[in-house]
Amino acid sequence: MTAAGLSRSLGGLGLSITLVESDAIGTVGVGEATLPHIRDFNRIVGIDERDMMSRTAATIKLGIEFRDWGRPGDRYMHPFGTYGETIGPAPFHHYWLKERANGGQTAALGDYSLPIVAGWNGRFEPPSAQEGMLAYNYAFQFDAGLYAAYLADVAQAAGVKRQEGRIVETRRSDAGDIVSVVLDSGQVIEGDLFVDCSGFRALLIEQELQTGFEDWSHWLPCNRAWAVPCAIGAESTPFTRATARDAGWQWRIPLQHRIGNGHVYCERYSTDQGALDVLMGNLEGTPIAEPRQLVFKTGKRRQMWNRNVVAIGLSGGFLEPLESTSIDLIQTGILKLIDLFPTDRCELADVSEYNRLMDLEYGRIRDFLLLHYVANQREGLPFWDDMRHMELPASLAAKMDAFRSRGLTPDYSDGLFLLQSWLSVFIGQNIIPETLDPRVDTMSAGERQAHLERIHSTLLESAEGMEEHLSFIHQYGASFKQSGA
Ligand SMILES: Cc1cc2nc3c(=O)[nH]c(=O)nc-3n(C[C@H](O)[C@H](O)[C@H](O)COP(=O)(O)OP(=O)(O)OC[C@H]3O[C@@H](n4cnc5c(N)ncnc54)[C@H](O)[C@@H]3O)c2cc1C
Repeated sequence: MTAAGLSRSLGGLGLSITLVESDAIGTVGVGEATLPHIRDFNRIVGIDERDMMSRTAATIKLGIEFRDWGRPGDRYMHPFGTYGETIGPAPFHHYWLKERANGGQTAALGDYSLPIVAGWNGRFEPPSAQEGMLAYNYAFQFDAGLYAAYLADVAQAAGVKRQEGRIVETRRSDAGDIVSVVLDSGQVIEGDLFVDCSGFRALLIEQELQTGFEDWSHWLPCNRAWAVPCAIGAESTPFTRATARDAGWQWRIPLQHRIGNGHVYCERYSTDQGALDVLMGNLEGTPIAEPRQLVFKTGKRRQMWNRNVVAIGLSGGFLEPLESTSIDLIQTGILKLIDLFPTDRCELADVSEYNRLMDLEYGRIRDFLLLHYVANQREGLPFWDDMRHMELPASLAAKMDAFRSRGLTPDYSDGLFLLQSWLSVFIGQNIIPETLDPRVDTMSAGERQAHLERIHSTLLESAEGMEEHLSFIHQYGASFKQSGA
């Protein structure tokens, strides 16, 4: 992604970009669910969506369904879209909450969101509106390895040199900057700027520069996962699913030709074998590969950009995959690097600004992930009891207080996650505000109910008019084609 992004965006500057990859080491090999911003990235690098979908076995993703996260049996979706529309001076959810508080027969909040209604009905069509209740966005569930290979082609077509080989040595100038890396073949690759995309190894940013790591495992203690693909069972849904388990949660990511599954857990609350048994016991189809274990630590590098090294991807940090944020963070890192790309040398002001922006992103995502864990009513399970009673980061405590007391949701101008995302989790996990926006009372109960019914039926009708998810993919010309087929 980095090589493709830089070469396509900055190619005109006459840069010489070399991508070093080691087939012997390989990639982490998981990561299949994305966020809608990836569509912007695809546009920036000039990718045709249909072609990309057919080369990566991609399905459509309209959101993430959460099962059993509040109370066992609960189900809600975090959609890539809005809830309802503006029907009065207060935000929409206050009218819905008012109706609910008055004992009205209102539908679930999710029934007022088109991507949720469409997703649960297994339907999709590209959005026809930019705003209002019919507006939404979508992302992809794809084979990330195939996506990377696809982008390697894009990057090479844009002039990037791809060098296969293992980096065995790093050389630095007297001032401490990295001047070159040495491959196992003895080849020396010199550079002015190095982007460390070496994954958890953090070859340059940590092994060489010892930048330091901010460990966030006391907030997000899950530190292991088992991953296994299986044959498609019931359906290839246009959404990812995250189901709470006793010591973590299980993902289900349907692609066109298989389903990606994984169980993220905390080793303090489950043995490895126990976690594997949970995963294998909850597959909907026959496993099609051996399960693989991954070990990780939640947190981030103290500086994502240090000297002349920028860490992008897992080398910069890792926040567990609950909200599919890693690939999105890669994209954010690339786009911010493009904005601040050094002309002559790395200026301290640019480096500080890059680090400030990335810290902001990581911090917001951390709080959002944590909300899913602390807002649980899964009593009697040690992992969930401990999560419920943990000491929160002040930034999250303030957001939860604001919602609990008045139904206020964080409202950033950009970045992850926006108002509707927070609302999904608050309501989906049974955090109900104590007081509502008083302006809801300027509307009569009859008028409010009429609006709610109108929106609900419009969305239902709109979703029913959409194509069935997989037939949309086929008609769109995005059916999976193996490379060379
Ligand atoms: C359990 C789990 C689930 C995940 N699920 C999702 C998800 O659903 N959605 C999402 O967005 N993200 C997800 N992620 C994150 C996602 O997998 C990564 O963000 C993504 O794969 C990018 O990884 P990377 O390129 O940083 O590192 P890697 O994939 O590890 O790639 C590192 C690269 O560096 C090269 N390299 C390393 N050392 C050397 C060396 N010495 N010499 C030469 N080359 C070297 C390797 O060959 C490789 O090409 C998940 C991660 C985990 C652990």
